[in-house]
Amino acid sequence: MSGSPRIAPGHLYVVATPIGNLDDLAPRAQEVLDGVAAICAEDTRNTANLLTHFGIRKPLIAVHEHNEDEICARLVARLQGGDALALVSDAGTPLISDPGFAVVRAARKANLPVLAIPGPCAAIAALSISGIASDRFVFEGFLPAKGAARRERLAELAPETRTLIVYESSHRIADCVADIAAVLGGERPLCLARELTKLYEQSVRAGAAEVAAWLAADVNRARGEFVLVIGGAPPADDPRAGEGERVLRLLLREMPASRAARVAAEITGARKKELYALALQLGGGGAAAD
Ligand code: SAM
Repeated sequence: MSGSPRIAPGHLYVVATPIGNLDDLAPRAQEVLDGVAAICAEDTRNTANLLTHFGIRKPLIAVHEHNEDEICARLVARLQGGDALALVSDAGTPLISDPGFAVVRAARKANLPVLAIPGPCAAIAALSISGIASDRFVFEGFLPAKGAARRERLAELAPETRTLIVYESSHRIADCVADIAAVLGGERPLCLARELTKLYEQSVRAGAAEVAAWLAADVNRARGEFVLVIGGAPPADDPRAGEGERVLRLLLREMPASRAARVAAEITGARKKELYALALQLGGGGAAAD
């Protein structure tokens, strides 16, 4: 049984942990980690460090992709016996490009209560600051590591109209952004969020080609952890898909956005308001880092 009156017996708590800044561990997350009988962790050493920082001592159970399935029966038996357990990963929200799915699935299958203790998630943090449409989005996790497979996947994703979110490591970030520019087009809106919540946190929002150039300009910019938020493809009836965009692009070379939108609307019959919004998107927001 759990030691804290606010921790319900037999419950599995899925607890989000910081993605860099330890102050982001919510008070309720601390209370749950302190109150459960044991904590299932992706890497027990990593979680031990986190717990030490908060003065929490708790038995840890290693749960990683290689032993998830076999450990589930043991965890379910403990939950059924009344132990409350927590599930954490190394950083952020468990199961989001992290282990834990088999544990949650097993608990659900056994009709055991599973509660979320929500908190940091790099994908959502990046989306929330990207300035790219956030009403509909697709989380792609990591794109394939090898160039040819990555470009193939990007080509499949090219017509997707919803915003795309991908995770990337420092080893591949430059190649990945270059591939996005090559396959989705250099003008495709892209927000690169780097080292979120950490000391060298940075984000840059521009067209994909411009972000690629920004990365190439300084090797230090390719260090750390990255989320890429990629604007979706224009829908078929969007002015970007047709003549409106072509004319607008030409006019934007010569005149300000509002005039270009008005003239492009007159020439093509596309809606001025939409062309103006597109003009701002095409011309607005340089590659300056925040
Ligand atoms: N479960 C985590 C979450 O909720 O975001 C993600 C774990 S996944 C194994 C690790 C990847 O998440 C990194 O390679 C990077 O793409 C992204 N990530 C994690 N922390 C980040 C941070 N502080 N800034 C930017 N990206 C981060």
